[in-house]
Amino acid sequence: MKVFKFGGASVKDAAGIRNLTKIVSREKDDLVIVISAFGKTTNALEMVLRSWIKGEKSYKDHLDNVYSYHASVADDLFPSGNSVKGKIDNSFAKLREYLRSSEKSSYDYEYDQIVSNGEIWSTIIVAEYLRKSGLNAEWVDIRASLLTDDRFRDADILWDESLARVTAVFDTKKIPVYVTQGFIGATAAGQSTTLGREGSDYTAAILASMLDANSVTVWKDVPGLLNADPKWMPDATRLEEISYREAVEMTFSGAKVIHPKTIKPLHNKNIPLYVKSFAAPDEEGTVIKADAVMKEVLPVFIRKEDQILISILPRDFSFVMGDNLGRIFYSFMQHGIKVNLVEASAVSIDVCIDDERVKVDSLIGDLMPEFTAVYNENLEMLSVRHYTPAAIERITKGRDILLEQRTRSAVRFVVRKVAASPSQAKGGANCKNCG
Ligand code: ASP
Ligand code: MG
Repeated sequence: MKVFKFGGASVKDAAGIRNLTKIVSREKDDLVIVISAFGKTTNALEMVLRSWIKGEKSYKDHLDNVYSYHASVADDLFPSGNSVKGKIDNSFAKLREYLRSSEKSSYDYEYDQIVSNGEIWSTIIVAEYLRKSGLNAEWVDIRASLLTDDRFRDADILWDESLARVTAVFDTKKIPVYVTQGFIGATAAGQSTTLGREGSDYTAAILASMLDANSVTVWKDVPGLLNADPKWMPDATRLEEISYREAVEMTFSGAKVIHPKTIKPLHNKNIPLYVKSFAAPDEEGTVIKADAVMKEVLPVFIRKEDQILISILPRDFSFVMGDNLGRIFYSFMQHGIKVNLVEASAVSIDVCIDDERVKVDSLIGDLMPEFTAVYNENLEMLSVRHYTPAAIERITKGRDILLEQRTRSAVRFVVRKVAASPSQAKGGANCKNCG
């Protein structure tokens, strides 16, 4: 069995779904297809949620736009009508009713109830179009099989409970092609959950692992994994094959092509992951696997934007590396803050994290009694794996470096963002909470 995953950039219009159908038709059977929401639907649903939570009537207009988008894709694919339109209409009607009548619960809970619909709509339309194109494809609501805890917006899979259900539902001896949703799951009580933005890759890996698939292919709008983001470095080169270790380090440092959580389940079952071009499916792409050989070791450049560097100091001048360390990182975990880089000295620790201001403020509040915390914002974390002097020079030239960390295989810099306009450059030392 193979698992294919198609993201929003691939299924963004009727032409994309026709292309998906072509790619799937070459396989015909023994296939599980995992799909994200169409195009930028997740962002659009986030907008619906934000307006609705604030009590703004405009949420209805935002939702109408999402509806028109899906209706127009369905009209294009099924010009002479199809039951799919009724299914989509019903699902939107349910969501409208929910938004009209429901008491508002927590932001994260409501996020998952609303935003999870994007994947439901995309998969309904794609499954129906595959059937219309002659494939024996079945739509599966993954929320009945993939059970999670109730950490809404960042839910963890309940592996044992899910395994039994997933293996019972997906049986490619009975049905050759299954179409299901990435990114979403449900609690045992049936509340929808989501696995974190861009989480569909992770779903593909989970299903592949549970079903003992032979491989996973992620179809992308790039020709494979490159040694840099081509928008940043136009001369970026494709990597033919890389190890799981290399891939997990790259994605953790900020390489956006695949979700960082994707690698572990595949590594544990030794399942190769292919990253291939949706536009040019015959081209080779990149394979991530155990026995990968890098023919030529290229420096790999990775940029993570919107970073904050926070320095934490025990107020009583005690060493940071003793008991304080556990206390500090427990607080990071409790506030759901993922740590990107750590550097410690005797009485202070520097931690680079994503700029999520609400979480950072509550973390600082929590640490306040025992620690002082100051931070710099508007930063980027730049990494080079397999660095050379020239590679380092290339990314650091003219940059204001706040922190540098070097190991045998990688070097990382936390640098100030280059100001977009001269007026923004006047900001001075952007240190917050420094008083
Ligand atoms: N649709 C979700 C998102 O945009 C999940 C995904 O694309 O993987 O984050
Ligand atoms: Mg997406």
